[in-house]
Amino acid sequence: MANPVFADLPTTIFTHMSALAVQHGAVNLGQGFPDEDGPLAVREAAAQALVEGPNQYPPMRGRIELRQALARHAKRFYGFDLDPETDIVVTSGATEALTASIMAIAGEGGEVVLIEPSYDSYRPIVEAMGARVRVVKLAAPGWRLDETALRAAFTEKTRAVLVNSPLNPIGRVFDRAELDGLARVLREHDAVAICDEVYEHLVFDGRAHVPLASLPGMFERCLRIGSAGKMFSLTGWKIGWVTGPKELIRVVANAHQFITFTTAPALQLGIAHALEHEMEFTLNLTRRFEANRDLLRDAIVKLGFQPLSCEGSYFLTADISALSNEPDRAFCERLVREAGVALIPLSVFFFDGKPDNLVRFAFCKQRAVIEEAVARLGKFFC
Ligand code: PMP
Ligand code: GLN
Repeated sequence: MANPVFADLPTTIFTHMSALAVQHGAVNLGQGFPDEDGPLAVREAAAQALVEGPNQYPPMRGRIELRQALARHAKRFYGFDLDPETDIVVTSGATEALTASIMAIAGEGGEVVLIEPSYDSYRPIVEAMGARVRVVKLAAPGWRLDETALRAAFTEKTRAVLVNSPLNPIGRVFDRAELDGLARVLREHDAVAICDEVYEHLVFDGRAHVPLASLPGMFERCLRIGSAGKMFSLTGWKIGWVTGPKELIRVVANAHQFITFTTAPALQLGIAHALEHEMEFTLNLTRRFEANRDLLRDAIVKLGFQPLSCEGSYFLTADISALSNEPDRAFCERLVREAGVALIPLSVFFFDGKPDNLVRFAFCKQRAVIEEAVARLGKFFC
């Protein structure tokens, strides 16, 4: 009776592990959300808009103040010239932005390439649209995006590839050579990239985030997705957006109008304020989370975890083979109960041929919280 794509899906691992964390009083380094809310001035701007209005339906593509602020942000950081009237759609979080973008591009008979490990929402939406998923798998030790592997996954039916950089969960930031290879394959197949760039500002060690859309000839082929939740530590607000060439954005807007139509106006105005006045918060967050990554990495190495290098995002992934021969999920479920620390098993980011020896730590937390998690793990493993 029900749609088979959704009927047999379990509740997401993030909800599952957060519930276990609450049940066992564990430190939650599982689900990726900061434990400190973003700037007070941003919350005040939204609160004022909530009290004073407007409180009726905003324009379908989003409040113009927010679209203008997004255009200025894209110009400042990447040199893009976006027309706020035609090149931007505001959505209810990046999750809706992804859904609207996939709906706009993928349909019956088409194919979409996913790069694994891949975020959990991509595949069900692609399949619900009647499109077929093809997978390119990244692999240890470098976890690099390989042009030959990409070319093998693309066919004459390929409509789009989903590209997440910085990559949740393994923290890769695709470099220029990898993006050049991807651009060549996209051009050859006349396909589109749906670029999930929600961690665009969380890029570490002096690296730069290079949007695929900024490569020669690529703007016309890219839908770029962002999330205010990640930029301003307001993940519950669910303000996201899609930017790109107006012909594609028109179709994304057509999908968006029948998913949510629009998004809470006060929150949109709060984020417009944030983009104009609080980017320092975001840039500082990068430095704070980079320091958290270092603290966490150095501590877990001493306990026997073998971390991958983390170039960006909220997350550090580590190999558990030296600590346990349990599968990753059993390891995480034992750890949350017995050590009081919640992590995420990496197997959930794969469909076939899942690795079972990797776990994800979220370090988008206060330093003291990470120290507490490390102390608990120390007590447990030593
Ligand atoms: N894409 C990735 C890679 C994410 O990690 C997340 C959430 N953490 C999202 C999309 C969804 O973002 P939002 O909360 O804005 O819907
Ligand atoms: N994206 C977040 C993560 O990877 C979780 C968001 C959610 O719970 N759906 O942890």
